[in-house]
Amino acid sequence: MKVVTIVGARPQLIKASVVSQAMRAHSDLEEVLVHTGQHFDANMSDVFFDELRMPSPKHHLGIAGGSHGEMTGRMLQAIERVILDERPDAVLVYGDTNSTLAGTLAAVKLHVPVAHVEAGLRSFNMKMPEEVNRILTDRVSTWLFAPTTEAVAHLRREGVDDARVFLVGDVMYDVAIQHGRRALTLGRGVLDTAGLDDGSFVLVTIHRADNTDDPTRLANIVQGLREVAAKRRVVWPLHPRTRVALDRMGILDDVTTTMTLLPPQGYLDMVRLETAAAVIATDSGGVQKEAFFHGVPCVTLRDETEWTELVDSGWNRLVPPTSAAAVAHGVLGAIGTRGADVHPYGSGHSADAIVDMMLRGVPRA
Ligand code: UDP
Repeated sequence: MKVVTIVGARPQLIKASVVSQAMRAHSDLEEVLVHTGQHFDANMSDVFFDELRMPSPKHHLGIAGGSHGEMTGRMLQAIERVILDERPDAVLVYGDTNSTLAGTLAAVKLHVPVAHVEAGLRSFNMKMPEEVNRILTDRVSTWLFAPTTEAVAHLRREGVDDARVFLVGDVMYDVAIQHGRRALTLGRGVLDTAGLDDGSFVLVTIHRADNTDDPTRLANIVQGLREVAAKRRVVWPLHPRTRVALDRMGILDDVTTTMTLLPPQGYLDMVRLETAAAVIATDSGGVQKEAFFHGVPCVTLRDETEWTELVDSGWNRLVPPTSAAAVAHGVLGAIGTRGADVHPYGSGHSADAIVDMMLRGVPRA
C-alpha cells in the first residue's frame, strides 16, 4: 500500500510523527510525506522533524501566506500534481487546516480514498476556518479516525455511515507518551535557560484567528495576563501570527517588559514548560490536551472548545476573553485545581490502530 501523507502546520508534524513511525514498521506500506509549507520557519517546522525523528518530506511545496482562498487553491493545484505522479492507494490528512482541506479535495477528485485523523471534532462555530475545513474533510473521507466518543457521536448525528468511522483514540496521546517522557529524561532544557522553577509560572499560548485578529479580544487577553503577571510569572512562547498582531496594536514592547516572551518552542521544551506550569492558558487544541496528559489545570481562552470532555471532567475551564478581569480571574482561579480521573483519549496506541485499519483496505459502506 502506498500512502501520501499531507502535513503543513506544526500540530500536524507532531501528530504525523507517531503515525509515520507506525507505518515504517510495515514493510508492505510505503509512505510519501508531502509538506505544503504552511508553517516553514525552523522553529515552527524543522525542529519537529529533528526532535520527533521524522524522515524529511519527499515533496516540499513551499506554499505559505496569502488569503485562505489563495493558499488553499495553490495547495490544491500542487497536491493534485503530486498525487498524479505518485499514484497512491490513499491520502492521509490530519486535523483541520487549509493543507487538510486541499489534500482532501485533490484526492477525492482523483478518486483516491482519504483517511482523516481527528475526524468528528466540532466547535459548532462556522466562523472558524478550522470548522469549515474539518466538516468538509469528514464529509468526503473514506476512513474517519475519531479521537473520542464525542467525535463519533457528532459523525453519527451528521449521518455518516458507521462503517467509515473508527474510534482509535488521540494520536497526541501517543506522542505525549512516546516523546513527552523523553523530554523529561533529557534534562530541564528551557526551564534552566529561562530560570523557571517548577509550579511557579503561568504558561500561555495564543494563536487562533478568533483572538489574534480581534483587537478587543487580544487587548483583553493581554490586559488580563498583565494582572496575572503582577502575582505570577507569565511565560509566553509567541506564535508568529500573535507577534505580528501585538506589534500591529503597538503593545508588543509592553508585553515584553511585563511577561517572559519566548520564541516558538520545540516539542520537547514545550512539554518541559507544560509539565512545570502552575496553570496553562491557551487557545490551542493540542495544548489543552497536553495540559491534561501532564495533570496541569488549563484555561481555554475561547468561546467554545472541541475537547468538551476536559471541561466536563474539570481539567479545563472555558473563559471567553470578554474582559481583562474575566481572563485574570479565570487564570488565577484555576491554579491548584484538578479534574476527575478520566481516560477519554485511548491507550496511547492510536497510530497503530490507524495503520492497521488502513491496511485492511477500504471499508465497505
Ligand atoms: N507547541 C510547540 N511549541 C510551541 C507551542 C506549541 O511545540 O511553542 C506544540 C504543542 O506542544 C502541541 C502542538 O504544538 O503539541 C499544538 O499545536 P498548535 O497550538 O500550533 O495548534 P492546535 O493544536 O491549536 O491546532
